Amino acid sequence: AVGVLAIVGRPNVGKSTLVNRILGRRAAVVEDTPGVTRDRVSYDAEWAGTDFKLVDTGGWETDVEGIDSAIADQAQIAVQLADAVVLVVDGQVGLTATDERIVRMLRASGKPVTLAVNKVDDRESEYMAAEFWKLGLGEPYPVSAMHGRGVGDLLDVALDKL
Ligand code: GDP
Ligand code: MG
Repeated sequence: AVGVLAIVGRPNVGKSTLVNRILGRRAAVVEDTPGVTRDRVSYDAEWAGTDFKLVDTGGWETDVEGIDSAIADQAQIAVQLADAVVLVVDGQVGLTATDERIVRMLRASGKPVTLAVNKVDDRESEYMAAEFWKLGLGEPYPVSAMHGRGVGDLLDVALDKL
């Protein structure tokens, strides 16, 4: 069986954009409005000769008003079913309390996590990744899901944990 890689993180950090970038097509729905991807959606993916299942989730924002907890439940299930996880954070917004809550839940899951700092659209913005060392997940990988920057390096590391 192929490994399962789940993409999790707060709504609007660019999870679906990253999924589309990895798939090389527009399969996942990208929206400016948070919470559009409400379910787990699984795709067959391939990178550098490795076949895997890629799972997009609706975002993980627990105990926050306005976000349906059913969406967070789906993210929780996705992590339980995954062999490895990519946590996506927003480099332009910076570290949030919700990111820290998600990290606690991921740690409890015991699944291997790779940290992607998204929306680092150019070399000059790479410093934005540094503050995420604080999360204790090891090296934060700066990526731009929108432009493709850094996505190959991220996948090399994340798929190695499958
Ligand atoms: P999701 O809710 O985490 O799935 O986020 P989406 O993929 O739907 O993206 C949310 C918003 O962030 C959209 O307006 C995207 O165009 C934007 N976005 C995603 N990736 C990037 C990126 O690498 N750079 C920038 N500047 N914006 C991005
Ligand atoms: Mg989405």
